[in-house]
Amino acid sequence: MIVRVPDITADGLSVTDATALGSVYRDPAWRLLDVNLRIERDGSDVFVTGELRAAVSQACSRCLEPSPGEVTAPVEVRLVPRPATADNVELAADDLDVDFYDRDEIDIRALIEAETTLALPMKPLCREGCLGLCRACGGNRNVVKCECPDRPPDPRMAVLKDLAARLSH
Ligand SMILES: [Zn+2]
Ligand SMILES: [Zn+2]
Repeated sequence: MIVRVPDITADGLSVTDATALGSVYRDPAWRLLDVNLRIERDGSDVFVTGELRAAVSQACSRCLEPSPGEVTAPVEVRLVPRPATADNVELAADDLDVDFYDRDEIDIRALIEAETTLALPMKPLCREGCLGLCRACGGNRNVVKCECPDRPPDPRMAVLKDLAARLSH
């Protein structure tokens, strides 16, 4: 969905129909569940505010298995026309994320994808208390109860034990 900036009226636009947007995400495992966005304009500045909810799938940060989940992303973006040269950009220090648009067009699907990505948890877990991968054998400890010791034995400790055994005889 492309919104043309000159078409944004004084009343603004609402985007509330997730199904009308079609496939938003390039990742087929992701799906937009709910969207509630307001698009408003002040001169050439465009403000997109609201919230979206999406079903996403990330690799679990411990066991690396795909872990489906939901994210809710608050959206508060200010879009300004992309300047011709990079060095005359002056970003206002306010709470809004500032992004650029080109050729009077705003790609709402790309914006939704970017905002969803920003809202993803840094360390997703497939479930509370995921046991992760075994550091010794690489097995998924949720699935296989391997017998590996927690840490590989330290060769220096072996030398000391050996010495202690000899001294005690
Ligand atoms: Zn996991
Ligand atoms: Zn193991």
